[in-house]
Amino acid sequence: MRVPSTALVTGGAGFLGAHLCEALVATGVRVTAVDDLSTGVPANLARLRGDDRFHFVEGDVREPLPGQPELIINLACPASPPKYQADPVRTLMTSVLGTLRCLELAEQCGAVVLQASTSEIYGDPEQHPQSESYRGAVDPWSVRACYDEGKRAAETLCADFRRTRGVDARVVRIFNTYGPGMSGGDGRVVSNFLSQASSGRPLTVYGDGKATRCFCYVDDLVAGLIQLALLPELDGPVNLGSDREMTVLELVDEVRRVMGREVPIAWMPAATDDPKRRLPDLRRAQSLIDWNPPTQLQDGLRRTLTWFEQLPTE
Ligand code: UDP
Repeated sequence: MRVPSTALVTGGAGFLGAHLCEALVATGVRVTAVDDLSTGVPANLARLRGDDRFHFVEGDVREPLPGQPELIINLACPASPPKYQADPVRTLMTSVLGTLRCLELAEQCGAVVLQASTSEIYGDPEQHPQSESYRGAVDPWSVRACYDEGKRAAETLCADFRRTRGVDARVVRIFNTYGPGMSGGDGRVVSNFLSQASSGRPLTVYGDGKATRCFCYVDDLVAGLIQLALLPELDGPVNLGSDREMTVLELVDEVRRVMGREVPIAWMPAATDDPKRRLPDLRRAQSLIDWNPPTQLQDGLRRTLTWFEQLPTE
C-alpha cells in the first residue's frame, strides 16, 4: 500500500505501540491510538501530546473500534509473561476478540490490517531456527497458552478473513524486542536486568540461565513493521526480530559490559514452561524488505539503560 493518510493503532500506549505511533506520525500519518491502559501508560505517549496528527482514545479492543482508517495495526494484548498470565482468560479473549474487531472494521472500510503475532506461536520449539513454515510446539494446557493460543487463533482469523472476506490482513511474528519505554516492572528479561542494574540490585536469573533468546532494538523493529505494512501485497506470516542468539547468562555479561562493572546475580526458580531456545529464521523478511536490523546490542542496551537511569527511583 502507499503511505496511508490515517492509521489506527490498538495497544497504542504500550511499549511497541507508542514507538510505532511516533514513527507513523513522523511519516505524515494521522494516527488514532486505542488502549485500555491495562498495561500501557499515557506517559509513553508524552511526546505526541499536543500534536494534532495524533489522537488517543481510551477504549477496549474487544469492543467495536472507531473511525475509518486506511491502516489498522493490532498490538493490543499484554505481552510480558507475568502480565499476560495474571489474567489469562482476558489475555486470550483480548487476542481473539480484538483481532476480530480489527478485521471487522477493515472489512467495513477497506483498511489493511497488520496483526502483531509473536514468536510464542512456536511454543517451546523443536526446530531451530524457526521458519514461518514450522508449526510449533504449543501445549494448550500450559500457563503460557493463553497468549500462545490466543495469538495462534488471531492468525487463523486473519487467514480466514483473507480467504473468505477479501481483507488484506498481514501477520508479523515479532520476536523479543527491547528499548527505551519498557516498564521496569513488566517482568521481561531486558527491562528487569536494566532496572535492577541501574538501581544497584542483583540481576534475577531464572533457572540455569541457559535458555536462549535474540533481542531486537525497538526502533529497528518498528521500521520493519512499517515497511511490511507498506508492501504492495503480503500473504502469509513473516518473522521479525534479531537472529543473534544468546543465553540469558550471556545477556548478563552484556549488561555487565554496559554497566562497566561486575553486577551480582540473584538465582531464582525457573519460569514455568519457559521455551529453551528461540531463534528466528529471517530469510523471508530479508527477501521482502531487505531486513537487517542495524542496532548493535551494546548500543541498544546503552540507550535503554540511559532511559532507565532517568526514571524516578521506585
Ligand atoms: N528471565 C530471567 N530473569 C528475568 C526475566 C526473564 O532469567 O528477570 C528469562 C526467562 O526465564 C526467559 C528469558 O529470560 O528464559 C526471556 O524472558 P522474557 O520474560 O523476557 O520473555 P519471553 O521470551 O520468555 O517471552
